[in-house]
Amino acid sequence: MNNTKCIFCDIKQNRIISEDQSFIVIRDAFPVTFLHTLIIPKRHVETYFDLSIKEIMELNKTLADEKARLESEDPSITGFNIGMNCGKDAGQTVMHCHIHLIPRRKGDVDDPRGGVRGVIAKMQKY
Ligand code: 5GP
Ligand code: ZN
Repeated sequence: MNNTKCIFCDIKQNRIISEDQSFIVIRDAFPVTFLHTLIIPKRHVETYFDLSIKEIMELNKTLADEKARLESEDPSITGFNIGMNCGKDAGQTVMHCHIHLIPRRKGDVDDPRGGVRGVIAKMQKY
């Protein structure tokens, strides 16, 4: 990986769960749910929209692989939220692209309806 003061460029090798040509996979340091996972491009780009087509194609496979890995590790997982905060105004705090893969389990909240609509909390339920 490249460079300087970016925490995702400087991830320690022992934090990496898996890697392929263009991505590393780590666990989130402040997990929303148990096994909350981050998929991070090795190349420092700010958001998903800066990835190349080749990286996006690879990302699809990485996501599927990690979903399968999580499900085999933890049979209590019954769903996933996949999320990206693209830009500060969308909530991004680490300005190196990353994809949140958040395992969900039946009953982990009282009413899961609306899921990622909760980025605007008052609009989650409909
Ligand atoms: P964002 O708000 O930019 O989409 O998400 C940043 C994510 O990175 C958060 O979920 C946060 O918990 C996670 N995070 C922040 N610093 C670290 C770190 O040093 N290591 C890991 N593994 N995750 C981090
Ligand atoms: Zn970086």
